Amino acid sequence: MKPATINHEFQQKDNNRRLAVKQPPITTKKRASSMYQNFKIHLENQLSEIKEAGLYKNERVITSPQGAAIKVAEGGDVLNFCANNYLGLSNDKRLIEAAKKALDERGYGMSSVRFICGTQDLHKKLEKAIAHFFGTEDTILYAACFDANGGVFEPLLTSEDAIISDALNHASIIDGVRLCKAQRYRYANADMADLEEQLKKAQSQRFRLIVTDGVFSMDGNVAPLDKIYALAEKYNAMVMVDESHSAGVVGKTGRGVTELYNLRGKIEILTGTLGKAFGGAIGGFTTGKQEIIDMLRQRSRPYLFSNSIPPMVAAAGIEMFNIMDTTNELQESLHSNTEYFVKRMQEAGFDIKPTQSAICAVMLYDAKLSQTVAARLQEEGIYVTGFYYPVVPKGEARIRVQISAAHKKEQLDKCIDAFTKVGKELDIIK
Ligand SMILES: *Cc1c(COP(=O)(O)O)cnc(C)c1O
Repeated sequence: MKPATINHEFQQKDNNRRLAVKQPPITTKKRASSMYQNFKIHLENQLSEIKEAGLYKNERVITSPQGAAIKVAEGGDVLNFCANNYLGLSNDKRLIEAAKKALDERGYGMSSVRFICGTQDLHKKLEKAIAHFFGTEDTILYAACFDANGGVFEPLLTSEDAIISDALNHASIIDGVRLCKAQRYRYANADMADLEEQLKKAQSQRFRLIVTDGVFSMDGNVAPLDKIYALAEKYNAMVMVDESHSAGVVGKTGRGVTELYNLRGKIEILTGTLGKAFGGAIGGFTTGKQEIIDMLRQRSRPYLFSNSIPPMVAAAGIEMFNIMDTTNELQESLHSNTEYFVKRMQEAGFDIKPTQSAICAVMLYDAKLSQTVAARLQEEGIYVTGFYYPVVPKGEARIRVQISAAHKKEQLDKCIDAFTKVGKELDIIK
């Protein structure tokens, strides 16, 4: 008999024995060095400062699949209005089936980076599907969009070049820019006069790249890409857009900001995530001009030195883009749900920031009030998050509501009714 079989049978017969495998003892004796003792106190102090400032993040535990209606460990059944599940695909049967099939046919993990032995036909197909969706030339996958943004600047630009970045860009863009030696310029959020100012300052550099989020996640506003593009033409610059919150959402068919402004195929670099509208699992990408993608495959560090996404995620992604190719149903539901929500909330008297995405910022202006409202809404079965300084500017505290194609009209109504009830109770509306 082969040893592998013996092991297998042994394990099946006596599963409990595995638990009895001796682990090395944990010594409770104090180490001679007191370094960790001091470090521990240092961390404890910092942690209590975070708590005292009211900024300590507690994670709320979900005990059901992600969706419009979920179960939470504390609070039971609630309607979810704070996920990035814009198209309602996080628990979509078609994606689950595609993932299961790939799990059976292609196994669980790749155990490799792409260029050694981490590329299956599924990864190549998904890259093509993403390029097709955005009307770009080629795509490179990453484990997350955080990695795509972390690995996009340093291989392409040097200290001779300039990056001109919106002040409200995502943390991963900020980190990616930090890793690159290019000269940095920052312009106020979506402020075109300031962008022009910065472009003038950057004229002596060799290459210029303007970088912006497609949708800014706290307000839900869309970057004015038409104007950015015009300035890029005028001052000879390239453009990069992070479509993480806009892909699947913005534009008539959800093709993102380049669709909204009729600029498909014209932007040099787009980045995005598979972790929001596109199924919500994991994975990120950079898509755009061929030579840029070719260079990233050679030099982008999070691509070269990090695992490739599991086959099942690639397969579900391919299925997701197939669905996008066949129908706009989900995008249309999302758009009409968002319109309905904003209209009825405004009628109820709430102050909603103008939005062109699925993010609706219900403005409360007061930090404490934002937390009270969120807590009261959870008691009413509505799951939302209150944001305040430093996540948003001082005096601009708010509840961020995220609409999904999966929300049914009754669920939207329940949310609006709960807001209205709590709003009256706390004197926010009449
Ligand atoms: C969510 C988000 C990311 C990170 O995406 P992951 O794939 O979760 O790493 C990057 N950029 C923007 C603008 C985002 O909103």
